Amino acid sequence: RKSVVRITTGSQALDELLGGGIETLCITEAFGEFRSGKTQLAHTLCVSTQLPLHMHGGNGKVAYIDTEGTFRPERIVPIAERFGMDANAVLDNIIYARAYTYEHQYNLLLGLAAKMAEEPFRLLIVDSVIALFRVDFSGRGELAERQQKLAQMLSRLTKIAEEFNVAVYITNQVIADPGGGMFITDPKKPAGGHVLAHAATIRLMLRKGKGEQRVCKIFDAPNLPEGEAVFQITTGGLMD
Ligand code: ATP
Ligand code: MG
Repeated sequence: RKSVVRITTGSQALDELLGGGIETLCITEAFGEFRSGKTQLAHTLCVSTQLPLHMHGGNGKVAYIDTEGTFRPERIVPIAERFGMDANAVLDNIIYARAYTYEHQYNLLLGLAAKMAEEPFRLLIVDSVIALFRVDFSGRGELAERQQKLAQMLSRLTKIAEEFNVAVYITNQVIADPGGGMFITDPKKPAGGHVLAHAATIRLMLRKGKGEQRVCKIFDAPNLPEGEAVFQITTGGLMD
């Protein structure tokens, strides 16, 4: 039997809100406006996943699928140092791939599953899970097909989480309302709509606070406490 591993986010307040950190065997979806910290959390998790279990890590490797080209290996260095780890060793344990179409994204997942069968992975990141769908299915009449393909992608992610006991962390940008009302989707709802809501076991709503502060609220999780966690984005990654 596989048991859940909880991986620290770097912020104690956020970990407490999550009941210990982000969990293996399920999908955690972070949604929020630009610069709300979705990608910075991904970078922090790239490092903390590699910490030993007694340091609230996952003692495993990381797979990173990047659809926006925002992964920065040089950001990993100070985060690794903050946790007292060797940056080069940490970077060696991050398998990185850039995806250019939704099909490419899906095929990368198939390849990663084969790799995960051979090596101990504890985290899979897809940043952003939805961006390529927005590009590849941009027409109005294509919504049904988009939702179907998205559901397929998410069921693949769920399968990976369960089969290899990894945490799946996906991001989803939601555009804050600039007052123009020019949205394809409801700005209060993440772009995946109901499809994404089903597969994502835990949904984190991120928003900007004062300065480098960010606020996280858990969206729609009956088994987790209501409330918010405030954290900071720093050179060393997420912190209280
Ligand atoms: P998007 O939807 O555009 O992808 P995001 O939610 O992924 O946005 P992030 O890239 O995670 O946003 O967060 C960007 C924020 O992180 C910026 O406000 C920036 O100030 C902060 N940040 C990035 N690097 C550092 C650093 N080294 N030290 C402190 N803050 C940083
Ligand atoms: Mg980002």
